[in-house]
Amino acid sequence: MPQLAKRMGRAKPSAIMAVADKAKKLKAEGRDIVSFSIGVPNFLPGEHVYAAAREALEKDSGQYGSNRGSDALLDAFLHHLDGLGLTGYTRLNCATGIGAKHILYNLAEALLDEGDTIAYAVPYWTTYADIAEVLDAKILELPCPASQDYKLTPAQLDAALATKPKVFLFNNPNNPTGMVYTREEIAALADVIARHPDTWVITDDIYNTMVFDGLGYHNFVQARPELRERVVFVDSLSKTYGMPGWRVGFMAGPEVVAKAVTVLNSTHITNLPEVVTAAAVAALTGPQDVPTGKCAEFQAKRDMVVDTMNSIPGVICPKPQGAFYVFPDISCAFGKSHKGVKIANDVDFCSVLLETKGVACVPGSAFGEPRALRISYTCPTEQLPKGLQRIQEFFAELS
Ligand code: PMP
Repeated sequence: MPQLAKRMGRAKPSAIMAVADKAKKLKAEGRDIVSFSIGVPNFLPGEHVYAAAREALEKDSGQYGSNRGSDALLDAFLHHLDGLGLTGYTRLNCATGIGAKHILYNLAEALLDEGDTIAYAVPYWTTYADIAEVLDAKILELPCPASQDYKLTPAQLDAALATKPKVFLFNNPNNPTGMVYTREEIAALADVIARHPDTWVITDDIYNTMVFDGLGYHNFVQARPELRERVVFVDSLSKTYGMPGWRVGFMAGPEVVAKAVTVLNSTHITNLPEVVTAAAVAALTGPQDVPTGKCAEFQAKRDMVVDTMNSIPGVICPKPQGAFYVFPDISCAFGKSHKGVKIANDVDFCSVLLETKGVACVPGSAFGEPRALRISYTCPTEQLPKGLQRIQEFFAELS
């Protein structure tokens, strides 16, 4: 039998989906499962989004479309950028893709040759490592433990950029930690970036509308407009508008990068479908009450999760200020047993928790931080206290 390409030896399916699949299986067997695992927003977009999609169906041309994205969609995205304070971009600075994941994959293909280095903070969203590995890029990990609130410091970034990685990939608000960088922190990192002109910067900011406590969303280009020459901003409809399955992602950055992504689109996907495009335009330009309401709900849920986790002796739970994740350090449980079953690490912890208590969380090692686990708290509101109480019981039963 012929062999698969060598790169497939490096490719692996998402570790997050593996936990979600196990939880689904237990549910199908009749178990009462609370899922804190997959990072889905768990709400649907406003009716105006569906209305736009229905109307587009009526008028569907059935034709191929623009590789970059339709003018209407690019204009809607530019309007959204304006709202974020990112002004001065044109359609030529932008490109669309099948979700931010596809955009990130395209960007990695466009910017990294085999053996080039990509630097990112740890914990990181699993797909960053998956993409780098399949493209045979070298990874420079920048460890950001709970003791520094999982945030990258300017000194760390300075040391990393001094080694001239080809790409620095940043994520704010962060998955899996939920951490958000303040205006001052972004300005300090932007100053460092400005001193190192040999590195492209990708800033994956798909949770930019989900920021709590009045902190606001900030980015490198606002802090230092000259960085727009090298900074690529990535966004998506998935989390903000409750549209993960619609698969719409965006980038804004230098024209040469937007063009490269457009060329890759012509090789991979050709275009986003017309109906999806119409729904996306409606989401970006229509009423914003759904995302605004969800942000308030998530802030209240965040409080509940953080308060509960910090009430458990030994658990260290930095308080996130965005997205919908909490990332407690639960390493105090390692070496203990639950009803005779030894818990050596985060994977054991999550697997015994799921088996015995029916609560699904993702082990931190999926994000490069094996001392922690990720709680995604977008489940129906009434499930949240139930799941948290079960986690508390689980800890109380450790010996
Ligand atoms: N970036 C981050 C940080 C994410 O958490 C996700 C989704 N989990 C994505 C990108 C990809 O989003 P999508 O492909 O659904 O737009």
